[in-house]
Amino acid sequence: MMKQIICAPIRLKAGLPAANCPRLISHTSRALSSAAIARRQAPSRSPILTSSSVSRALPSRITTVTSLVSTRAYATPAEAETPKPKKRFRLIRWLWRLTYLGAAGALVYVGYEIYLMRHPAEQEVPEEGKKTLVVLGTGWGSVSLLKKLDTENYNVIVISPRNYFLFTPLLPSCTTGQIEHRSIMEPVRNFLRHKKTAVKFYEAEATKIDYKKKVVYINDESEIKGNVRTSEIAFDMLVVGVGAENATFGIPGVREHGLFLKEVGDAQKIRRRIMDCCETAVFRDQSPEERARLLHMVVVGGGPTGVEFAGELQDFFQDDLRKWIPEIQDNFHVTLVEALPNVLPMFSKQLIDYTERTFKEETITIRTKTMVKKVHEKYIEAESTGPDGQKITENIPYGLLVWATGNALRPVVKDLMMQIPAQKDSRRGLLVNEYLVVKGTEDIWAVGDCAIANYAPTAQVASQEGAFLARLFNNIAKTQAIEDKLSQLSDLQSKAPNKEERDQVFADIKELQKRLRRVKQMGPFEYSHQGSLAYIGSDKAVADISWLTGNVATGGGLTYIFWRSAYLSMCWSMRNRILVVMDWAKTKMFGRDVSRE
Ligand SMILES: Cc1cc2nc3c(=O)[nH]c(=O)nc-3n(C[C@H](O)[C@H](O)[C@H](O)COP(=O)(O)OP(=O)(O)OC[C@H]3O[C@@H](n4cnc5c(N)ncnc54)[C@H](O)[C@@H]3O)c2cc1C
Repeated sequence: MMKQIICAPIRLKAGLPAANCPRLISHTSRALSSAAIARRQAPSRSPILTSSSVSRALPSRITTVTSLVSTRAYATPAEAETPKPKKRFRLIRWLWRLTYLGAAGALVYVGYEIYLMRHPAEQEVPEEGKKTLVVLGTGWGSVSLLKKLDTENYNVIVISPRNYFLFTPLLPSCTTGQIEHRSIMEPVRNFLRHKKTAVKFYEAEATKIDYKKKVVYINDESEIKGNVRTSEIAFDMLVVGVGAENATFGIPGVREHGLFLKEVGDAQKIRRRIMDCCETAVFRDQSPEERARLLHMVVVGGGPTGVEFAGELQDFFQDDLRKWIPEIQDNFHVTLVEALPNVLPMFSKQLIDYTERTFKEETITIRTKTMVKKVHEKYIEAESTGPDGQKITENIPYGLLVWATGNALRPVVKDLMMQIPAQKDSRRGLLVNEYLVVKGTEDIWAVGDCAIANYAPTAQVASQEGAFLARLFNNIAKTQAIEDKLSQLSDLQSKAPNKEERDQVFADIKELQKRLRRVKQMGPFEYSHQGSLAYIGSDKAVADISWLTGNVATGGGLTYIFWRSAYLSMCWSMRNRILVVMDWAKTKMFGRDVSRE
């Protein structure tokens, strides 16, 4: 009975039924006996005993015990603080709930995107009589145009020797196997199939544009050829987005011995060549000189492509190659050659210095003010300018030479320029006006690296130009539709039987004219620079970002995280994003693959 009385308040407070509680009994009996001793020895010293009825007669003894126990049970500091941890954990619990709700939401979103991607809707067939819009190329410019274009307004035909879009900013990572090339390729069929009205695609190269006849001549340059391999396509409107070739500046031997970095095939060749050089260098009885030559990797061009490739290559060596082929440790070396006084000329001075310092730490040699004069099979002839201004000519042996120095005109662009008198003074590409119309022509537009609009040849410029043209073409179609409607209404108004109907039609005409003015109010193309980014190796990147009205220059590990997230968000599709993340995770886990394909 006493046992129950003693336990009850404590167990009830804990939310438990008042059941057996032996620990508390012994605790209570100890308290009781000490209370008795205390009463005998110093009745006035303990406040608990003074306030209780211990000094009075029992049967209040049981009451006393109860009150004593309940005082201890409710008043010990440990138990008084019980609610506090609850408050602290409540926040953590909420954060945890938010996290998993967010993760679940993201999963549903990704799943839905994948579902949409895998299940394209039925497409409409282009209406008879619509204008034929021919788009050349499937690079940054053309694809960003196609993405935003309302294809129901035109009969759209796309021509390109490449049936995929390539996310070039991550191409240097493919040369070392950090990312697999298919992860940054998006088949054009995938996104063209999602347009409302069907778009025709021909895998072919445009060999000639006859701007007067408004015809494009095309050739099937693929390995497999059918009975028909050439054709011609008439256009009402043409967009030239064929990009540019690699510039060699007429330096002999570059095409024969160097490798470029522009296409997927180039990255694959580089990857094979790196491994070939490493394996050949450790071939039995290879001389030390030959080994050093084979393991000397020379990159020509200190722009973002050259710098990123040099950084990726050094990472490959540091993280994987030297681990699996230890014999190459002492000889593997990367040299970056640049004709200008510094690398990354488009970045601010502090980032250039930071990059050069980082390369030094990574043991990458930078040879600025060095011009390549001739490329031989095993060495390059270069002329460098010393600090005293003296020119020194030297031979630099190499095993791998990657040429990343800039752009040159494609033959089809050169040919078009020759046909147009207004283009005769241009050397670098098609001159365009502020609406990207090729100067000296009508109904021909140019975007990206093949157009000269006073901006740098970058993906950023090309994609903004493509998006601008999509808006322009959508507006042209809307204008045409409104004008057709206006002429119908004008007919209707003249035939209206009474004033009331005439007024009604007139009101409609006024409304349409207002819309027409709004649609026609499209300003010229204006490029908005978001900033420049480059990976410099060792998990570091540099960034010159436009921020409000100013510029933020930053470099290091955090910038590298920003670099990664920026490129990930820019990837063409959810599929690309997932594949790239998986590749990064795969490399982190297993390292890069050192087998030669
Ligand atoms: C390795 C690398 C890294 C880069 N990194 C960045 C970066 O980080 N940020 C940035 O802003 N820019 C970067 N660039 C530059 C950027 O890729 C180019 O500026 C951009 O690709 C230009 O777009 P475009 O549409 O003009 O040409 P491209 O993207 O080159 O596309 C040209 C298209 O035309 C097709 N074509 C070629 N010839 C013909 C023909 N005769 N007929 C029909 N079609 C043809 C090609 O197959 C291709 O589909 C990088 C470039 C490289 C090579």
